[in-house]
Amino acid sequence: MPQAVVCVKPIPDPKHWDKLYLDHKTGVLRREGVPHALNPPDKHALEVALQIKDEFSWDVAVVSMSPPDTVKILRETLAMGADRVYLASDKAFSGSDTLATAYALSELIKKKIGLFDLVVCGSMSLDGSTSQVPAQLAHYLGVPHVTHVTKVETDDAKSFKVVMDFKASEMIVECKTPLVLSVTKEVNLPRIANVMGIISSENKPLEVVSATDINADLYKVGLDNSPTKVKELFIPEIKRKKEILKGGDPEDIVDELLDKLHETGVL
Ligand SMILES: Cc1cc2nc3c(=O)[nH]c(=O)nc-3n(C[C@H](O)[C@H](O)[C@H](O)COP(=O)(O)OP(=O)(O)OC[C@H]3O[C@@H](n4cnc5c(N)ncnc54)[C@H](O)[C@@H]3O)c2cc1C
Repeated sequence: MPQAVVCVKPIPDPKHWDKLYLDHKTGVLRREGVPHALNPPDKHALEVALQIKDEFSWDVAVVSMSPPDTVKILRETLAMGADRVYLASDKAFSGSDTLATAYALSELIKKKIGLFDLVVCGSMSLDGSTSQVPAQLAHYLGVPHVTHVTKVETDDAKSFKVVMDFKASEMIVECKTPLVLSVTKEVNLPRIANVMGIISSENKPLEVVSATDINADLYKVGLDNSPTKVKELFIPEIKRKKEILKGGDPEDIVDELLDKLHETGVL
C-alpha cells in the first residue's frame, strides 16, 4: 500500500504562551507546565495526506519528535484519520536544533516506516518558525523537496502538480514520488475529528521509541551536537512614534498624512 508520512510537531499551546520564558543562560525556551497543541500548519499537512488516503487508499503515518507527554495531543491526528503514530522521545534529543531534529525524524522514518511515497510537513512551526526542518529532512532522506505549497493536485498519486506561492509570484511544479512537500495553510481546510474518529483512535497504534530503538547516532542529536548555537537571546526593542492628526478639512489631513509618510520614507 502506498505510504504517506506526515511530520507533526507538538508546540506549546499558543493560548498559554504567557507562561513560556527564555533561559538566557542556556539559550533554551523553557516550556515546563505549558500544555501542548498540534502545530496548526501540520493539520493542513495531515489533511493533504488524508485526502490522498480517501481517494487512493494510502496508509498515513504520523511521525514526531517531542517529549513523552505529547502522546495525548498526537492522538488527535489518529482521530482525524491517520493510521499510526511514531513518536521519537528521548532525553538524548533534548535541545536539538533544526538539523538534529531533521536527522532524528529521518532515522525514525527509515527505521519504523522504511519505503515511503510522500512526506508532508507544515511550512513552518509556530514556535521555532525557521522553516528549515522539511528541507533538511528531504536531504537526509535523499529525496526532492518542494516548499511553500498552496495547492496539490494528482490524478494517480504517483506524480503531483503543486503550486508554490512566493507572494509576489507563483511557480507550478510537476514532481514525482518519493518526495517531501511542505504546505502552507492556504492548501486546504483541515477536517475536524468526529466522535467515531475519536473512538476509533483509541485502537490505533501509537508507538513511542527511544534514540537507541531507531539506532540514532547520539553524536548527531541533542543540544551539544547541534551545529547552531544560540549566542544571545533578547526581545528586540521596537520604537514607535505616535502622532494624531486632527482638526481641519479631512482632505487637508490626508495631504498632511501623505507628506509625513513621504518625509519618513514610508512612501
Ligand atoms: C541552537 C538551538 C537550540 C535549541 N534548543 C532547543 C531546546 O533546548 N528545546 C527546544 O524545544 N527547542 C530547541 N530549539 C528549537 C528546535 O530546533 C526546533 O524546535 C526544531 O528544530 C524544529 O524547528 P522549527 O520549530 O523551526 O521547525 P520548522 O522548520 O519551522 O518546521 C516546519 C515543519 O517541520 C516539521 N517539524 C518540525 N519540527 C518537528 C518535530 N519536532 N517533530 C515533527 N515534525 C517537525 C513540521 O511539519 C513543521 O511544520 C533549538 C533551536 C536551536 C537553533
